[in-house]
Amino acid sequence: MQTVHTVAELRTALTTARNAGKSVGLVPTMGFLHEGHASLIAQAVADNDVVVVSVFVNPTQFGPNEDLASYPRDPERDTELCRRLGADLVFMPAPAEMYRDPKAFVDIAGLSDGLCGRSRPTHFRGVCTVVTKLFQLAQPTRAYFGEKDAQQLAIIRKLVADLFIPVEIVGCPIVREADGLAKSSRNSYLNPAERNAAPVLSHALRAAREILRPGLATSVVRENIAAVLAAEPLARTDYIEIVQADTLEPLERCEGKMLVAIAVYIGTTRLIDNFTAEVSR
Ligand code: AMP
Repeated sequence: MQTVHTVAELRTALTTARNAGKSVGLVPTMGFLHEGHASLIAQAVADNDVVVVSVFVNPTQFGPNEDLASYPRDPERDTELCRRLGADLVFMPAPAEMYRDPKAFVDIAGLSDGLCGRSRPTHFRGVCTVVTKLFQLAQPTRAYFGEKDAQQLAIIRKLVADLFIPVEIVGCPIVREADGLAKSSRNSYLNPAERNAAPVLSHALRAAREILRPGLATSVVRENIAAVLAAEPLARTDYIEIVQADTLEPLERCEGKMLVAIAVYIGTTRLIDNFTAEVSR
């Protein structure tokens, strides 16, 4: 396995692979890798001849008062995990390698406005921009994204369709801790009391899943989730949204392919979780 830090090195390494007719799998990450990332990398290794993992804490997807400076980093451990999982290349660029002023941005209005976009208004512009750059550089056959970031996955699917980017987007299931908490690099911010409280997100979603039935008002489902979250003193709800899973349009009633997504502060740490369900008469 090779670790590269520059655009030029990445291009050289992948041009050789592509000229040899090899399929390329790309796994974009911000590092501090955990089992959620590992599941994406393992899937990419199973599906492709060559796998590149990018590890880049992308500054443009953080708001001015967010955790860019404190975001956890451990490049050595990340590199070792990629090696163990059978990746071929790790791309770890410095911010100046990815961005030169004046910057070009890629944006999708509409899909980026609701859910996480409401409290993080420039987040998905940063995600779309860095993912487009990575697609341009790696020209992957397939790229792997977690269903944990369901809005991100819906946006990336729309991005590649709308910009005619020839890559297959592969969505991978949410990997959880034994108590239901979705794995996240940001879980490392939680103190022991907050860590004990954090599974309330998955508990609230599990309760919601049980009451879904065709035609039920989504307000009832939202209230059900809100009640479970309200019982946890360390939890403060950012949003509870119930939308059509592909278009992210709000749903009045339970029907079709639904995405139930929540964002909740546990102390000062903002966590997200979701599930999708097909509800048919
Ligand atoms: P991040 O490093 O947080 O930007 O995540 C990189 C990729 O890993 C994204 O596509 C995430 O959706 C995915 N991912 C993060 N956590 C999980 C998880 N618990 N299960 C599955 N995929 C995840």
